[in-house]
Amino acid sequence: MNRKSGCVAGFLLLGAVLNTGRLAQAQINSPQAKLSVHWEELTGPDFVEAIQRSQGTCLLPFGILEKHGPHMPIGSDLLNARYAALHAAEQQYAVVFPEYYFGQISEARHEPGTIAYSRDLQLALLQATTDEMARNGCKKILMVNGHGGNGSLLPYFAQSQLDKPHDYVVYLFDQRTPATGGPKKKTSIDAHAGESETSKMMIVRPDLLHQDRATSESGADQHRVNLPEGVYTGIWWYARFPDHYAGEGSAATRELGEYQMKWWVDSVSKVIVAIKADDVSLKLQNEFYEKSTHPLDTPQ
Ligand SMILES: [Zn+2]
Repeated sequence: MNRKSGCVAGFLLLGAVLNTGRLAQAQINSPQAKLSVHWEELTGPDFVEAIQRSQGTCLLPFGILEKHGPHMPIGSDLLNARYAALHAAEQQYAVVFPEYYFGQISEARHEPGTIAYSRDLQLALLQATTDEMARNGCKKILMVNGHGGNGSLLPYFAQSQLDKPHDYVVYLFDQRTPATGGPKKKTSIDAHAGESETSKMMIVRPDLLHQDRATSESGADQHRVNLPEGVYTGIWWYARFPDHYAGEGSAATRELGEYQMKWWVDSVSKVIVAIKADDVSLKLQNEFYEKSTHPLDTPQ
């Protein structure tokens, strides 16, 4: 082979390699090969396909902006809930709404970085968000809650969907930690920024953790209000855990984080499967809405 023909052969070979590379890249980018689960990453045409593929099932991972002990990021609940929701949606295709952190967190207003919207705004914004999601084809909306302080807000929101007709169903999954199983835990109080939550962050964003600071504040229960069991008052959390720390983050391990995150992702995946198969809830909602317009006709 002379020098010139060697060059030509070289170019042909290079061209073949480049073409193969482009083809592979096109396959990676083609919507058939990979449809993003992120709402904000989809094109208009891909969004239509995404809603079809998800059977109208969309996830609303719910976080908050609030201090998490001395060692975890303010957005911990948002980061952890989105990790669980996004990985679950990869397993059982669903469209995942962008960052949402407009929940109940009045009790942390004395801590830096807290964004606490008013009660009216929380409810109005959430209703507008689910209405808009539904208008775009999300007829089954699963809220994946990452924030303990939403524990009353979100069931109330879901329950109050019965106040007037909606053409969609709101579902709530509000578990983050398995009740049993996995590596043995070392701490008895294990809540906000404690052993479990810190362990999960070791999987999600270990670069944001400051384990060397985890013992610089106490996450012990301060028991500052003593009322009979069954009596609720809004100051209860501040009374017990005023530093927004409930547990010992220093006890966290990657092993526990791996176990718990896998459990959370698997649990949300199973919920997605169940929701896709649920053809009863909307039917009953519609029946209920219709009957509620003439309650005197309901057989007594
Ligand atoms: Zn948290």
